[in-house]
Amino acid sequence: MAFDPGVVHAKYLEERDKRLVPGRAAIRDLAHDERVAGFRADPFTPRTEREPVTDDPDVVIVGGGIAGLLAGAHLRKAGVGRIRIVDAAGGVGGTWYWNRYPGVMCDVESYQYLPMLEELDYVPTRRYAFGEEIRQHLQAIADRFELLSDALFHTEVTQSVWNDKAGRWTVHTDRGDRLSCRYYVLAVGILNLMKLPVVPGMDDFAGRAFHTARWDYDYTGGAPGEALTKLGDKAVALIGTGASGLQALPPLAESARHVYVFQRTPSAIGVRGNRPTDPSFAAGLAPGWQKARMDNFQSIMLGRAVETDLTDDGWTHHYAAVQNPPRTKGASIQEFMRNAEELDFGIMEEHRRRIDQLVTDPDVASALKPYYRYLCKRPCFHDEYYDAFNCPNVTLIDCPAGVERITERGPVVGGQQYEVDCIVYGTGFEAELTPLQRRVGHDIVGRGGISLARKWADGAASLFGMMSRGFPNMFVMPAPGQQSVVTVNYTQIAVLGAEFVSGVVSLLEKQGVEVFDVNAEAEDDWIRQIVETYVDPSAVMAACTPSRINNEGNPGGVRARDTNFGRGFGDYFAYRELLETWLASGELDGLDLA
Ligand code: NAP
Repeated sequence: MAFDPGVVHAKYLEERDKRLVPGRAAIRDLAHDERVAGFRADPFTPRTEREPVTDDPDVVIVGGGIAGLLAGAHLRKAGVGRIRIVDAAGGVGGTWYWNRYPGVMCDVESYQYLPMLEELDYVPTRRYAFGEEIRQHLQAIADRFELLSDALFHTEVTQSVWNDKAGRWTVHTDRGDRLSCRYYVLAVGILNLMKLPVVPGMDDFAGRAFHTARWDYDYTGGAPGEALTKLGDKAVALIGTGASGLQALPPLAESARHVYVFQRTPSAIGVRGNRPTDPSFAAGLAPGWQKARMDNFQSIMLGRAVETDLTDDGWTHHYAAVQNPPRTKGASIQEFMRNAEELDFGIMEEHRRRIDQLVTDPDVASALKPYYRYLCKRPCFHDEYYDAFNCPNVTLIDCPAGVERITERGPVVGGQQYEVDCIVYGTGFEAELTPLQRRVGHDIVGRGGISLARKWADGAASLFGMMSRGFPNMFVMPAPGQQSVVTVNYTQIAVLGAEFVSGVVSLLEKQGVEVFDVNAEAEDDWIRQIVETYVDPSAVMAACTPSRINNEGNPGGVRARDTNFGRGFGDYFAYRELLETWLASGELDGLDLA
């Protein structure tokens, strides 16, 4: 298809409309619906009984993933003694604890994504690390900063209440624990709630069903990185072709008798180019290299000129190009928009051509082609996904309106029953824009009995996206759409958040402050800045295929307060400078201190 805007628009809208069907975003209530309670169970670590804990740590951190571990490590470096991490998982790692499906891999370069590489004197073994290596590295951070012995795993916070008299938080858990802490840190992650679609009849399925974030190796055999030895006589339905589903397909295709891949929307899947780390790369790294590499990547993401593109991958080539289309001097807005669209179209055509080159059956190739603008969905990258469709035991079931229903024998699409032994739901997670209070999953009661859910009912309300008035001595790790900024490399914003939290705590301790709260003017001013810089992208995003990025086809439903510092994804470098300058002044401006 040569670039004819009219034709391209029509094709993209036609593909969008096939998917804009009522109920497409409906999800099961995993927290309360007993019929799906089993989907949440931890298949990796047996739950052991223990006595309730009653004590008074300095800090309680909710969440032992990247953000929580970094907060813990930096607080430890700042001299904080007693830190308790509380996590529903059976160990640390967060998303990397739960996501152990075969083929799970980081989609951002490992040299930037794995935190604290220099401190731990570690260089990942591959350009894009597999999940197990990431999990072990996070475990090593927890070990190094002694965060494990006091951690409470398989434990969920049920309520936390600020006690003004004591100047402390009281944290209650489902194990009967009662922790009284000086500082409370919410590090619950951004895609922490598994999503299971509502498909009529799904509870009737008689075989084994699980989500990619709870892979059942007892059933499939094998382990991460090994063959799935028990699937040789089994037919498997894989529902979902986002980053998780597509990574799981090649190992499934290798081991299962048959795999039916149920695709609602094809992902745009670029070249991964994974390879082992070259020993000369590791040998040539100079002190400060990891931060410099992260900054280089982030500069490219923001369209800034760099001398060398150190990452040199699909993110820096395609994603950055589409995010920051070239501006020609003297060009009108219309010309700019047209050029941007043509650039986007060229990149999507490259993706579509790649499918023709790799997939031998032209009908399958055609069904795998994505038709939407590149940024409508989070881009994916993989080197073996398309090859899997050339295997005789892999069948693509294209179902733009989703799986119709599921019977006791398996999924039904277009009236046809697909008989399977097992259903793998690669159906993802609730969007980043899910409000904090839902992602946190417990009631947080601040000064005067106000709950965070009530205070944030009309949108986030914070200073710097990390502290909120009425919730003294509490920090929220920065997250997209939560009045901070977005970085494609999530670790980079988590590092900044952890450095900020430990920086504030150090200042408070040095100045003998026991309790801080955000003052009203400072919070109002921050909210004003967020709201003023918000540019509603719904005109462009409404033409997108529905996805979590455009609020499932309802892009106008985003509130200006639930956005970022600066336009779009926000300006990471301006935000960092602002936080660093604020910390360096030592004034704790905008905080009421007692
Ligand atoms: P996802 O991108 O949300 O994909 C979910 C898939 O399930 C989509 O293909 C979706 O189709 C499909 N689906 C949902 N309901 C369905 C239904 N009723 N019938 C048929 N198909 C249905 O989730 P994910 O793949 O788990 O990835 C989530 C995010 O996690 C990624 O965007 C990324 O940020 C992160 N992630 C990262 C890595 C990594 O390499 N670092 C790996 C995995 C995940 P539609 O597209 O039509 O909605």
